[in-house]
Amino acid sequence: MNFNRLKFGATIGIIGGGQLGKMMAQSAQKMGFNVACLDPNPDSPCKSVADVFITAEYDDEEALNKLGQQSDVITYEFENISAQQLKQLTQQFNIPQSYQAIELLQDRLTEKQTLESAGTKIVPYVSLKDEKDLNQAIETLSYPFIVKTRFGGYDGKGQILVKNDSNVEEAKVLVSKHECVAEKFLDLDREVSLTVTIGNQKQIAYFPLQENEHRNQILFKTIIPARCDKEQEARKEVDKIIEKVHFVGTFTVEFFIDKSNHLYVNEIAPRPHNSGHYTIEACDYSQFDTHILAVTGQDLPQEIEILKPAVMMNLLGRDLDLLEDKFGDHPEWHVHIYGKTERKSDRKMGHMTILTNNVNETENEMLKQFKGRE
Ligand code: ADP
Ligand code: MG
Repeated sequence: MNFNRLKFGATIGIIGGGQLGKMMAQSAQKMGFNVACLDPNPDSPCKSVADVFITAEYDDEEALNKLGQQSDVITYEFENISAQQLKQLTQQFNIPQSYQAIELLQDRLTEKQTLESAGTKIVPYVSLKDEKDLNQAIETLSYPFIVKTRFGGYDGKGQILVKNDSNVEEAKVLVSKHECVAEKFLDLDREVSLTVTIGNQKQIAYFPLQENEHRNQILFKTIIPARCDKEQEARKEVDKIIEKVHFVGTFTVEFFIDKSNHLYVNEIAPRPHNSGHYTIEACDYSQFDTHILAVTGQDLPQEIEILKPAVMMNLLGRDLDLLEDKFGDHPEWHVHIYGKTERKSDRKMGHMTILTNNVNETENEMLKQFKGRE
């Protein structure tokens, strides 16, 4: 059935014009679709590629309607949009991803409850409504634990690691301002993630398991294939999640592996994800290509193949300061620069993917290049 299958020339409306929106747009345009994009920042990365660009806040109802009227399908590049507004929009416009994933996953508490009810293994946690609940966290989880705001966090923003009594005051301040969750801070062996695309006829395309290193809670590098044997277990966890939550398009499940080799689901990003950027060069389909295929109602590839193992390094502002003079000497780096106007030390300005027959060697070479960087 070709239900809601869009033909080239159709317009894809993207809520959010950051790097994810831009790379989605580039995949869409390659396939012959037009792109309309809504973002409050007139200088956002997607501005330079979108056919139509609407400068407006994400909750601007009139602007969202305008985007809908100009689009044959609406998608989004990030989860912090209003689930309520998305729900209203779904009554009027074609939004195959719908609002349920956003509603459940933009709140860390309902996300954890959803993961529990799906039967996946997650890290022990306590809900923190106010400061008093911190005692409960100390008792149930014991130190160290990590406090995270329920809403709006990304790249470690809105998180405090509570190592001992001396950090409790800081955590109290956060909890007094925002509802939070506390979760046991694990001694990690490694982090991995699995990117998956679901088609509008429930077809499933799994990308290979990705091994991620974070520094200061921001993704530093991704290595493919992951150097551990957790791929099948991770897929099974993803399958449980798919049973519970409606997905169409690309999403990523982040996992922790502790020192006892236990796999825990950390969180779900209901959109293309930083740890899947390597797919542009290293796989036969990128996570953006499959996202566009899914939301426009096309079939999905049955298997995604790794064309070559790869190391993906993020390029924050501080990394550009360190490395940009070297780009010209390294055509093998496959550099992507997103086009953000202001460079900040911790801001994701771009990334690069290095294809390799020996990920360990390439990882060591890259670590030398990034030497001295926190
Ligand atoms: P974000 O939404 O900012 O990505 P995460 O919950 O994924 O939030 O946290 C960011 C990073 O912080 C993780 O990828 C991991 O490196 C570290 N981290 C978060 N929670 C824990 C935990 N419970 N135990 C160990 N490390 C953690
Ligand atoms: Mg994360």
